[in-house]
Amino acid sequence: MLPLYLTVTDKYLKYSYKDTDRNESVKKIYNLNPALDLDANFSNFKSKVPEFFDVVVIMNPIDIEIRDTIVSCANRPIDISLYMENLFHVPTVGIHNVKKYGLQKATDDEKDYAGWHLDYYGTYEGKKQYGQESLLTIGNGYFGVRGAYLESRANDNGYPGTYVAGVYNQLTTFINNQDISNEDLVNLPNAQYTTFSIDDGDFFELRDEDIETVYRTLNMKNGILSTIMYVSLQNGKKLKVTTKKVAHMHHFHCYSLQYTVEPLNFSGKIKIYTEIDGAVSNKNVKRYRTLDHHHLRIDKTEVSDNFALLLAHTRNSHVDIAVSSVISSPNEVEPKIHSDKSQEKIGQYMTFEAKENQSYTMEKTVSIYTSLETKGDLIEVLKANTYHHNFSDIIKNSTRAWNEIWDDEYLEIDGDITSQKLLRMNAYHLTITAHQNVNKHLDVSVGSRGLHGEAYRGHIFWDELFILPYYNIHYPKLVKSLLMYRYNRLDAAKKYAQESGYQGAMYPWQSAMYGDEQSQSIHLNPITNHWEPDNSRKQHHVSLAIAYNVWNYYNMSNDEEFLQEYGLEILLNIAKFWISLAEYDGETKKYSINDVMGPDEFHEGYPGAKTGGLKNNAYTNIMTSWLFKKVEQIINNESSEVLRENFSRSHFTDDDLDKMHDIRCNLKLEYSKNQILGQFEGYFKLKLINFDFYRRQYGNIERMDRILKAEGDSPDNYQVAKQADALMPIYNLRVGTFLEIMKDLGYEVDDEDKFIENNIRYYLSRTTHGSSLSRIVYSMLALKVNDLDLAWKLFDDSLTSDYYDIQGGTTAEGIHLGVMGATLNVVIECFAGVDYRGQELKIDPKVPESWNNIKFNMNFKNIHYYFEVDHEQIKIKANKDTHVIFREQSIDIKADKERIINYSKVALQS
Ligand code: BGC
Repeated sequence: MLPLYLTVTDKYLKYSYKDTDRNESVKKIYNLNPALDLDANFSNFKSKVPEFFDVVVIMNPIDIEIRDTIVSCANRPIDISLYMENLFHVPTVGIHNVKKYGLQKATDDEKDYAGWHLDYYGTYEGKKQYGQESLLTIGNGYFGVRGAYLESRANDNGYPGTYVAGVYNQLTTFINNQDISNEDLVNLPNAQYTTFSIDDGDFFELRDEDIETVYRTLNMKNGILSTIMYVSLQNGKKLKVTTKKVAHMHHFHCYSLQYTVEPLNFSGKIKIYTEIDGAVSNKNVKRYRTLDHHHLRIDKTEVSDNFALLLAHTRNSHVDIAVSSVISSPNEVEPKIHSDKSQEKIGQYMTFEAKENQSYTMEKTVSIYTSLETKGDLIEVLKANTYHHNFSDIIKNSTRAWNEIWDDEYLEIDGDITSQKLLRMNAYHLTITAHQNVNKHLDVSVGSRGLHGEAYRGHIFWDELFILPYYNIHYPKLVKSLLMYRYNRLDAAKKYAQESGYQGAMYPWQSAMYGDEQSQSIHLNPITNHWEPDNSRKQHHVSLAIAYNVWNYYNMSNDEEFLQEYGLEILLNIAKFWISLAEYDGETKKYSINDVMGPDEFHEGYPGAKTGGLKNNAYTNIMTSWLFKKVEQIINNESSEVLRENFSRSHFTDDDLDKMHDIRCNLKLEYSKNQILGQFEGYFKLKLINFDFYRRQYGNIERMDRILKAEGDSPDNYQVAKQADALMPIYNLRVGTFLEIMKDLGYEVDDEDKFIENNIRYYLSRTTHGSSLSRIVYSMLALKVNDLDLAWKLFDDSLTSDYYDIQGGTTAEGIHLGVMGATLNVVIECFAGVDYRGQELKIDPKVPESWNNIKFNMNFKNIHYYFEVDHEQIKIKANKDTHVIFREQSIDIKADKERIINYSKVALQS
């Protein structure tokens, strides 16, 4: 093992390592540049150090109690392991543990630890703190509770939001001379608020000057979020405050917390105080605060002994909500509890005659029930199911539940601890946003920002397309529940189509409680602070994403019953919608689809046009043709009885079938002489944009739309894209399928490889990645043309996008679930190369150079697989006899027998 030894001081980093080529020890110093921040200094440091070591050893930690990698650097304490691990992707250990356990064990332990923990050391403020709270959210598919400090109230430096899946409410505000209605995922009463006081003084509030040290850790292995805080008050009193918080995976209505206070240099009276605070509103997103954001009415507060209950309802959607809590203390069997209640809040505290260096604990279990999923009287149900255990049992239960989850979702990356940590983090957030044990009781789907914040008001978008595949390979039943959310809103989608002059089902771009359109018609440009028209509702391709998800689920699960009872009806209705949208032009003998927007939201309409909408968006037309072909295939396979029944339910006729066939072979695409696929009709007439010019002026030009609008210009005028659009079909479909569609539509491709390569290069040079969904799609596309460096870079940027909050503050308002799902898809489908988008698994790996191997479980067509893929070998085990396709060759797999395929290396650089 090759270590890099590192001594960190306020002014310089001293490092040493063994140069194995010369067989000599090298000792060097890197002087910190005071003009640069730490991140910049560390990345300069990285460029000076050869990257062949397996571990960084920190020689001079200053605090070994919290972690033995805490050092003083540039005059402040930092956990250097967090920086070094993110920089070099290898474990970083403290000399203390090396001496105690030996280098090998200390390294192995840290490798394991780093892969499972999300840690923050020190205090943060503003959007940074908000963003960390999003990433430290706990939940279970039913609710999400943001990872705010328990002592935190909603303010600019903390936001303890609580959300239950599907609880929305609509409010109307008169603004900009018009009524604006918005349906929001409602922030529910804050029942995590807990703090303490000493000798009947004021309750402790989070103030930087009182916090000596604080370390927060989300242990993704068992779902427990812990905080250790050393408090040093202005009066000289010092305390250690330890908190733990966990969402129950089985008792999914509940979360529990534990609050422990230890006086370190005094004895005295300590009160631990906790609340259920109903005086909350939706304030997570600053720019929404000018709109009415008071969604709740509190109906009742009740308290007796250790039990507290608050009843509320949402103002317009009339969802009843009951939040209750039970508190106890392991210090006393029957602690004395004082309670106080007002109309909107219940406060309770326990008093301890505390002795120096002894700890005092309150434990609390919070239950949340709503009338959405609970039939009957909420209070009765809640009281009958009141749940509270001592915290050590709760930890045991949570560990057991998460062990099962991680067995199901097994994914290990060897060779890169940062990728391992962040892929786990993505899987964790997908799992706490929806889980099959919970979602079978709910009528919800997954919002683009999870249950983690209020951006996009908790709405459900086409982002499901990026999220559901991960659920598909692990929890097909969960996908069925999520698709039922769409089925249950089929009538709303039919109504929307009808009102818009179309037939069939037109799903809304943004969906919430009822499935009606929830996109805004104007939105606030944060650069100009002006309200601008918003045409995003013309992104009817969301219906194609839903169809795609239905097909994918059916293909991967073989769930005939779902297809016959629900899936086909959704598909036929969506097909009918597109049939009604397609217009035939006798002159060109082609069909056109008008008045839509593609995924690239920079293009809302034609230059100068008063109304939005574009003609023949490539993504829309190609996916429509794909859908029609799939519907034809299903129709060819299903019995006449199933078809008769589904046709009649969907008012789908034989005439529709004929039209569908005609349209699918004759939809128009914009196609240049040199075989570039135009994003929409007229695209090639738009002006080119000089990115360098804008970059010099603005630095970050990801949101080129806002920049241009602020200059009185419009992105409609230019060939500039927010995200993949014309090439999105290659994210959804195998290249062969995509090329077949081009052929079906009558567009020639002379050289397939060149066509793909030219089109990818063309659009990459026009894309600013203004959406978190952009880079990950282009990462997959770059792999298609074997640009391995680019693919890795885009993947890495996507993987770290929420962790580093690369959009400069959007993680504060919730995670980006789409890119989280998509990174996991790219690992499995492209890096491990197990492509599940067809009838058979097709395998063709491209493992990143810096990874040694990828190991994972997955399900496909009711067969459970285990894969282990490195740079030269693929190991496959399945629980039934089956076969896979490896580079066009069929390989038989015998049940429970490992099959090894050796292959020649095509590796990714990193
Ligand atoms: C993207 C959309 C996405 C939405 C919600 C937007 O910024 O452009 O494609 O659906 O965010 O995540």
